[in-house]
Amino acid sequence: MMRTVYINGDYLPENEAKVSIFDRGFLMADGVYEVTSVIDSKLVDFDRHVTRLQRSLKELEMKLPLSVRELLEVHQELVRANRLEEGLVYLQITRGAPPERDFSFPNPDETPQTIVLFTQSKPGLTDSPLAKQGIKVISIDDIRWGRRDIKTVQLLYPSMGKMMALKSGADDAWMLQDGYVTEGTSNNAFIVKNKKIITRPLSNKILHGITRASVMRFAKESQMELVERCFSIEEAKAADEAFITSASNFVMPVVEIDGVTLGDGTPGLVATRLREIYISECRKQAK
Ligand code: PMP
Repeated sequence: MMRTVYINGDYLPENEAKVSIFDRGFLMADGVYEVTSVIDSKLVDFDRHVTRLQRSLKELEMKLPLSVRELLEVHQELVRANRLEEGLVYLQITRGAPPERDFSFPNPDETPQTIVLFTQSKPGLTDSPLAKQGIKVISIDDIRWGRRDIKTVQLLYPSMGKMMALKSGADDAWMLQDGYVTEGTSNNAFIVKNKKIITRPLSNKILHGITRASVMRFAKESQMELVERCFSIEEAKAADEAFITSASNFVMPVVEIDGVTLGDGTPGLVATRLREIYISECRKQAK
């Protein structure tokens, strides 16, 4: 199906939306993005995604080219125009296309930012066969830059990590710094030991996942015990269960780490319960 996408104020068929070869997103990965999930044709955690977007932009001395209200309208219009029931809305804002390639930032009064949004249909997002089975992860070195809290479009290493995982027969990779798990290639990592849910605290070393925050809120409301601290890959392999969180996976159980099976090799009770709670709460709160 030919999608309708949004680019710099216009709604266009996807094959008519074009960005300049001088765009700094293309030349320098000078841009930020957000991915908001859609359930029942409604946006999940939209306000929190916009808050993180504003923070990413501020850290890179950029501004939000639309008002928050306009941004919500664009998201909702794309969901409507593309008859999206379950899936994602992808948003990207770059520093625009100055006339010359140059390391210094262009004057924002002369170079308008580029903003694009498009939808991706993902039937089975809520009723996911993979979530019933669980995923396998491998561990790899985390060699990314030091500001992983900014959601930039520099995704080459996470993309290489994903390929390393697929080539070794796994589904994803957890990245390690000083022996401790930072996060997955595009998700936050959790382990569960003796019913205690453990996840790395927020810092510049990981992306501040919106799903992570919501899942932690729901876990606390359900009286589950939660600890924010670093955990090693050895500890993860010895855990009772593990899972990842992201807007495109919600809560996804992990059943194997570096070839070591967790528990009985099926999704754990805590991960399964958190996935159910997350989806039912999102259904109530989406807009
Ligand atoms: N960490 C990284 C590196 C990511 O790329 C993502 C998803 N973009 C996440 C965590 C999860 O964030 P969220 O729950 O906001 O999708």
